[in-house]
Amino acid sequence: MFNRRQILQSMATLPLLSACALPRQGSARNYTPSGMPLRRVNVSDDRVIRTIAGLRPYRPSGFVVRAERMNDKVVIHNYGHGGGGITLSWGTSHLAMELATQTQHRRCAVLGSGATGLSAARLMQNAGWEVAIYSKDLPPNTTSNVAGGQWSPTSVYSEDSVTPAFLAQFESAMRHSYRYYQNLVGPKYGVRWISNYMILSGDSGTDFLSDTYPGMYPQRLRLAPSDHPFPANNILHIDTMLAEPAVYLPQMMDDFQIAGGKIVVKEFRDRSEVLQLDEPVIINCTGLGSRELFNDNELIPIKGQLTFLLPQEEVDYIIIGNSGLYMFPRSDGILLGGTYERNNWDTTPDPQATRRIIDGHRAFFNAMEDPWA
Ligand SMILES: Cc1cc2nc3c(=O)[nH]c(=O)nc-3n(C[C@H](O)[C@H](O)[C@H](O)COP(=O)(O)OP(=O)(O)OC[C@H]3O[C@@H](n4cnc5c(N)ncnc54)[C@H](O)[C@@H]3O)c2cc1C
Repeated sequence: MFNRRQILQSMATLPLLSACALPRQGSARNYTPSGMPLRRVNVSDDRVIRTIAGLRPYRPSGFVVRAERMNDKVVIHNYGHGGGGITLSWGTSHLAMELATQTQHRRCAVLGSGATGLSAARLMQNAGWEVAIYSKDLPPNTTSNVAGGQWSPTSVYSEDSVTPAFLAQFESAMRHSYRYYQNLVGPKYGVRWISNYMILSGDSGTDFLSDTYPGMYPQRLRLAPSDHPFPANNILHIDTMLAEPAVYLPQMMDDFQIAGGKIVVKEFRDRSEVLQLDEPVIINCTGLGSRELFNDNELIPIKGQLTFLLPQEEVDYIIIGNSGLYMFPRSDGILLGGTYERNNWDTTPDPQATRRIIDGHRAFFNAMEDPWA
């Protein structure tokens, strides 16, 4: 309970607070198309709270979703999502579910509990199956926990290595995922819509994904320098969803268990151990683990490193492409990223990369106009 003095004291601060919230100057260029103020990120070494690295499970010819018979089991692969596994998880799992439901069974094992395994497990439960997850590590110790969480399937394949059949599967997965994620928007799953400002190179720069699939990138606008407060010439604005892994993945684990799912912590050393499982259908969502388990030598890591700054509630937009760097504002910190190292298996952060990420973002945001600062 508050006493009268406390109430009067708190009222005395109100005019001061509302004055702080008002812009001293500013125009339409200082707001997103949805009306959110564009505030500066405060980048300095003493605001750094952690630096982490993870390995994107990348295949130049794209992810694998297909069924194969092994002994008396049906194994359905669902792995190799590169830099787009959070984004595509529901979509490729939908395709995997369609393959599973063509069998006469009603019981399956899902290998892995990253974003892909969890969405596959939930879809199988929704289809009325009895599901057990088997996984070496659980959240927060998966690659999916390292992801930035922007809804956009980037670095998923190499254009010169893909077939038309894969591209059709990619688009189908993307469309299913786009729709599934919209059911999860809100604080419970940590998914929200957010403005993205993409810095394009040159005056005629393009963005492949939003150019090719404009229907999944709303509020797509080209911005001239006079239309935004950033130190850049050619900017493309789009809206995407952003999923916070630290909220989303535990909630998915809860949903799975509430629906009666069983979780077994277990590492499989090879395919023969997998085939000893009791379940007749096995959905393989082991990400990079599939290289060893199923002898897929095309699958390689692309190392990515992220530095987090203290959270800034007032920052609510994404920046992509500031010299290959990106910034996502999340409730667990301001995420600064921008490294892609092929075939690097080392998950130790590299201090030189950290320096480049912090310095690049500091220079960018210090040159940004913020009339409220
Ligand atoms: C720095 C960085 C930023 C990223 N940003 C984004 C982004 O913004 N948007 C986006 O969509 N994607 C992003 N990604 C990519 C995304 O993280 C991956 O594509 C995604 O996590 C893959 O999910 P997964 O479930 O297939 O694999 P994982 O999350 O790796 O899960 C694999 C599971 O399999 C288990 N497993 C593996 N081997 C075995 C075994 N032998 N026995 C038992 N269990 C096993 C593991 O324990 C784990 O539970 C980013 C990745 C990185 C590194």
